[in-house]
Amino acid sequence: MDLRPAEVTSVLEQEIASFQGESRMQSVGTVLSVGDGVARVYGLDDCMMNELLEFAGGVRGVALNLEEDNVGCVLLGDAAKVREGDTVTATGRIISVPTGDKLLGRVVNALGDPVDGKGPLGTSDSDLRPIEQPAPSVVERQPVSEPLQTGIKAIDAMIPIGRGQRELVIGDRQTGKTALLIDTILAQKTTGGGDPTNPEQVICIYVAVAQKQSTVVDLVRRLEAENAMQYSIVVIASAIDEASMQYLSCYAGCTMGERFRDEGRHVVIFYDDLYKQALAYRQVMLLLRRPPGREAFPGDVFNLHSRLLERAAKLSDDAPKINPRYQAGGGSLTALPVVETQEGDVAAYIPTNVISITDGQIFLETNLFNSGVRPAVNAGISVSRVGGAAQIPAMKKSAGSLRLELAQFRELQAFAQFGSDLDKATQDKLTRGERLVEMLKQGQYKPIPAAEQVMMVYAGTSGGLDDLPVKLVGEFEEQYLAYVRDTHPEAAEAIQTAKKDIPDDVKKQLDAAIAAVKTQIRA
Ligand code: ATP
Ligand code: MG
Repeated sequence: MDLRPAEVTSVLEQEIASFQGESRMQSVGTVLSVGDGVARVYGLDDCMMNELLEFAGGVRGVALNLEEDNVGCVLLGDAAKVREGDTVTATGRIISVPTGDKLLGRVVNALGDPVDGKGPLGTSDSDLRPIEQPAPSVVERQPVSEPLQTGIKAIDAMIPIGRGQRELVIGDRQTGKTALLIDTILAQKTTGGGDPTNPEQVICIYVAVAQKQSTVVDLVRRLEAENAMQYSIVVIASAIDEASMQYLSCYAGCTMGERFRDEGRHVVIFYDDLYKQALAYRQVMLLLRRPPGREAFPGDVFNLHSRLLERAAKLSDDAPKINPRYQAGGGSLTALPVVETQEGDVAAYIPTNVISITDGQIFLETNLFNSGVRPAVNAGISVSRVGGAAQIPAMKKSAGSLRLELAQFRELQAFAQFGSDLDKATQDKLTRGERLVEMLKQGQYKPIPAAEQVMMVYAGTSGGLDDLPVKLVGEFEEQYLAYVRDTHPEAAEAIQTAKKDIPDDVKKQLDAAIAAVKTQIRA
């Protein structure tokens, strides 16, 4: 072939271009030391923060400390398979998990690997998303406007949650925190009939951090039995998993949720719980020799939680125009983190951190729980700072006085114990309060649709229960709701769509139903 110099150059350029396309520089290092699930690696000069590393024995790790002459990394698998002198390959990508519809109905670990024995997920490489992603910016968001129903009267009436909100569930051990989350998952069935392909269906992601495996197995069984697993994903890093997996699991779950949010869907994610996640993070960081601070947590434990919870959002309708990352606008990711307290101490380090990051908290109390008030919500110190905007109008109106009446009741109750003579007004308040407390009790796994909650709250706050013995309130609820369903099947729809208050004609129907059922019960 007879080529002129210019042609030779262009041929060479093409050759070089295609050669670069095929090959990639791979960064390989050596293990300097390994112990306690942590390895120090020499020679990974281009390593990124949170980059996934592969060890010779097949174990994976994640780079967390980038120092001048070595990289500190935590192992995500069996540390016994890693030895000093082993080679380590940097994968060139931030630790990522699979996302998408194929995960629905599945139980996966913090790396997105299925652990439910139902075979591979069937996702492709294009479904991988990094577990750390920036939170939506201010212009990409909009205020919460749609309700996220928990199906629990005490919460939907007094501490309403909006889609995109972050609401903390806080309380001591065994106060019904997890039960509240499960009921919320079950309540989402009303949004799209439990059909995951229905765009209206709210998707649920439950992240189990450092819990007993048997507890999580029970939870998954329960969701399956209630046909709720098909629109849910369970991410599990149980008590026997590595501490690194435990703390990463929350971010993994969040990334799975964000995929749906960015496609315009609605997601609610539960982190059960962030106290245990912080403990796992502390363990990992102390092994990496980060300096301990208050309560021996590393200084960035606030950031650990804030960068996770900031990713919850209600996206603006114009989000795709602002950032091509979003395929559709209007999607939402609601976060319900759980924090376990010790002896009700909400002023400890982690609880105060998370309280300050979230938009409110639902406080569950041991005393209430033990005295039979379940769910054990302390309405006095529970709050939802933004959810009011998302409450359905009929509920807002009916439940308006509920908090105040309960607060007055608790105060008067303390007086009444002294047995002093009480005037009529005080006695009336006590009568009302006792019935309201009873009316807000609710069994487990029995979420109540929004409209029926309104009917029940109306019965309480309108004084309809005042002349009913307290112990009959539970029985009344059952019969009353059934009665309205039978006699006025259209009432629920009218309440749900009411623009202001329960329509007057429906109020009359409810009053009549209350009277009829009371006579029925007393007979
Ligand atoms: P842990 O701190 O161990 O995680 P928790 O705060 O998550 O506990 P749960 O496991 O949800 O608490 O509930 C503790 C117990 O109380 C369970 O046996 C549960 O069945 C029961 N329970 C929770 N809520 C209710 C309710 N509304 N009515 C009756 N029983 C309930
Ligand atoms: Mg629990």
